[in-house]
Amino acid sequence: MENSQKLAGKIALVTGGNSGIGLATAQRFVAEGAFVFITGRRQAELDAAVQSLGNQAFGIQGDVSKLADLDRAIAVIKEQKGRLDVLFANAGIAEFAPLDAVTEAQYDRQFDINVKGLFFTVQKALPLLPDGAAIILMASIVGIKGFEANSVYSATKAAIRSFARTLTSDLKARRIRVNAISPGPIETPGLNGILDTPEQVAQFKAQMVSAVPLGRVGDADEIAKAVVFLASDDSSFVTGAELFVDGGMAQV
Ligand code: NAD
Repeated sequence: MENSQKLAGKIALVTGGNSGIGLATAQRFVAEGAFVFITGRRQAELDAAVQSLGNQAFGIQGDVSKLADLDRAIAVIKEQKGRLDVLFANAGIAEFAPLDAVTEAQYDRQFDINVKGLFFTVQKALPLLPDGAAIILMASIVGIKGFEANSVYSATKAAIRSFARTLTSDLKARRIRVNAISPGPIETPGLNGILDTPEQVAQFKAQMVSAVPLGRVGDADEIAKAVVFLASDDSSFVTGAELFVDGGMAQV
């Protein structure tokens, strides 16, 4: 991995940093010179991820949809580093189901984690963010496109696209940049767990790929590189934007 030190000396938080896109981004952040806090729900995965990141990372177990867990995570960061230059609000879940099979529990879980969890992660982190900090919100291509059997997940991601714009206004006095990133289909444990059977997942991936001009699923590191751009001074005049890293899906 190239190492251009674009984030030298920065303190970052990646929620859901123990798997998939979050872990790939934490790896990039460390390679670029940042110290990274990662959060995740499962302690064993978190420990393994921290170990793979070396001594420039610290893991905090917790659920983003629980405000007490968020308070605890922010308190740990405050105690250890005193500030947060980059916040990547990435944690999220997807549970696809045909319209007539969606349960109330699935609906509530996705909104609780993806929307409420993301919003309060930002709110709770605010006291630690210096003027000029960067916030990146994990949205998705499905926030602007309709695909079968994912109406609830897609609605959560559409809400996140909206947050990127409204938070930009809320934080303008402090010159904090807020941008959304919207990946197309990316090979991760999350993508492989969205439907009940491997056959259903394969069918879904084929449906997605047929809508990707570049004709393939993306790699988590291809998202991580874009997040580094939004986190670093390379994007110093970019805020309130949504970066599609989707093989061209948004354009067709
Ligand atoms: P993943 O399942 O590999 O990673 C998800 C991460 O979120 C894990 O670290 C998990 O611990 C964490 N997480 C989930 N619920 C949590 C909670 N309640 N509290 C704290 N952490 C929680 O999946 P991924 O594909 O890497 O997904 C990461 C983000 O990217 C998600 O927001 C997802 O919606 C988004 N996304 C993924 C794709 C894709 O195709 N993989 C495409 C667009 C957007």
